Amino acid sequence: MRPFAYVRAADVASAIRAHGGSPRARFLGGGTNLVDLMRADVERPDTVVDISRLPLTAVEELPGGGVRIGALVRNSHLAAHPLIRDRCPMVSQALLSGASAQLRNMATVGGNLLQRTRCAYFHDTAAACNKRRPGSGCDALGGFHRDLGILGVSDACIATHPSDLCVALAALDAVVETESARGVRRLPLTDLHRLPGDTPHVETELAPGELITAVELPALPFAARSRYRKVRDRSSFAFALVSVAAALDVRDGVVAGVRLALGGVAAKPWRAREAERVLAGAPATEESYARAAEAELAAAVTRPGNAFKAELARRTIVATLRELEAG
Ligand code: SF4
Repeated sequence: MRPFAYVRAADVASAIRAHGGSPRARFLGGGTNLVDLMRADVERPDTVVDISRLPLTAVEELPGGGVRIGALVRNSHLAAHPLIRDRCPMVSQALLSGASAQLRNMATVGGNLLQRTRCAYFHDTAAACNKRRPGSGCDALGGFHRDLGILGVSDACIATHPSDLCVALAALDAVVETESARGVRRLPLTDLHRLPGDTPHVETELAPGELITAVELPALPFAARSRYRKVRDRSSFAFALVSVAAALDVRDGVVAGVRLALGGVAAKPWRAREAERVLAGAPATEESYARAAEAELAAAVTRPGNAFKAELARRTIVATLRELEAG
């Protein structure tokens, strides 16, 4: 690991000041991703601002039924929180499907949103990777890409975002609150992460030094019946090949409301708006679910190693909706 300056911040303002908007400074929350990347020489910050003591650890009910989650709430705490388990169980399920108990005890909500891809070439400093070193190429395109993306990909990068939590948050229209030297701002979670295009090294819409302080979940009564389904190579401590976060409201046999997002398929949590459009007002049947899944995956761009993912995503969407409909 390379030498770096370490600053422990006591409050949000001093954290932002210590970071200073430098492209080589990093905020340290739980450290479960950043420290690994520093050890692998992928991340090379000259300054690490420890924000783990900041008072951003509350989970609060909002007027109207929404929930506000501090950016430093630990994943295990959030997964077990009664507000989350009762109002949006898919958030709890997504968290519990990720990492290990030890990691969930350390990892924070803000860090979960900003974790980096697990593409093997990104983690290998001897490999060509446009995300790690812009313009160097992408060894994944002609190499091992079984776990990589099929939606919103580019010829520069086909990495996936590894978060489970983000997939559930995308389905719920979560809002991210940030603070920086320019003040406080709020942006939809679905706008936080960028697709790779020609600049896969630019992963989010955050400016350097902009600190995530909270995530808000708007009220969505039918999310009390929601589900996160994750398909992976082994039953624990593995990233999603495909995952689906879904909430379904069926009335008189018709889809009155649906939220659907996919994980493991793109550089961002993928809100399945095309599938939602097909499902709105449609009969709540397996045929409708299959048509919606087909519509969403029509834009898939697959490669030899990950072509199976399109069919896997279709089937996982159908299975998840069928399970929700059955209650
Ligand atoms: Fe790097 Fe993206 Fe290519 Fe992986 S897919 S090697 S992260 S450029």
